[in-house]
Amino acid sequence: FVIPEFEEFCSRIEKIYNKCKGIHLGKVASYIPQLERMSPDYWGVSLCTIDGQRFSVGDTKIPFTMQSCSKPLTYAIALNELGSEVVHRYVGQEPSGRMFNELVLDFNKRPHNPMVNAGAIIVCSLLMELIEKEMSLAEKFDYVNAYFKRLSGNEYIGFNNAVFLSERENADRNNALAYYMRENKCFPEKINLRDCLDFYFQCCSMEADCESMSVMASTLANGGICPITGDQVLKPDAVRDVLSLMHSCGMYDYSGQFAFSVGLPAKSGVCGGMLVVIPNVMGLCLWSPPLDALSNSVRGIEFCRELVNIFNFHRYDNL
Ligand code: GLN
Repeated sequence: FVIPEFEEFCSRIEKIYNKCKGIHLGKVASYIPQLERMSPDYWGVSLCTIDGQRFSVGDTKIPFTMQSCSKPLTYAIALNELGSEVVHRYVGQEPSGRMFNELVLDFNKRPHNPMVNAGAIIVCSLLMELIEKEMSLAEKFDYVNAYFKRLSGNEYIGFNNAVFLSERENADRNNALAYYMRENKCFPEKINLRDCLDFYFQCCSMEADCESMSVMASTLANGGICPITGDQVLKPDAVRDVLSLMHSCGMYDYSGQFAFSVGLPAKSGVCGGMLVVIPNVMGLCLWSPPLDALSNSVRGIEFCRELVNIFNFHRYDNL
């Protein structure tokens, strides 16, 4: 086993969980009512090792929408199907140093990276136009859904239509980003901007729970092979690229500090979820809706800090 004393390990994870449970800071996202209604008390941690050992504590069976946690996954699909060279003709690899929905492009007039809204919208357009070109809109949705299912070892993946409709109703900024990018010829040719944004909102509105999301994180930790099913979902090269950008750009404007102090590839979302990958060891999902000023889960961040205090999981521990 990659974690030999698993029970002892889990009891220490549970201690960190309980410590973070006592934190009552942060604010639940309120830009749409469906997120605002989430209880600030929800707090769940699930982990799945690359050899399939599982542990969950707290609210790990409650579905939540993936929001920005879907960004590394759609990016992974694009890389897997198109290769890095094609994908990165359209989107960069540089942290933006700005808010995730900032109306800004890089010096080449491309979105900075696939982990910010602009980049993720472009990635969605690549899926629609370059991979799923011949499919109907329904089939395009099914295609992504099927990929997410495989990444999660066929565990819970859902879709929250109310969140989707709300996202679409409250989309001034994402619309502005899409028009600004079309003006700057960021998209592949002949896209339908509306369909493309809908597709992006649908990806944000996909649901998972801590357990299924920990399997997705573990598939990334395991070079693209789902530890539960043994299915090679992603090529190792695609996983390498995804983890690299999660490491440098995954935590909004906290990415640099997170890379410094935690030293693990991760991706957060306004849902309060976090995908955390310990390469060659395990994947974790942390979920608690209250967010700090930079839109990261307060309990999630604190959990990671404690985790690397106690265990040597920081990438540059043990050198
Ligand atoms: N749906 C949100 C948006 O596009 C997702 C952003 C996020 O999780 N940071 O604004």
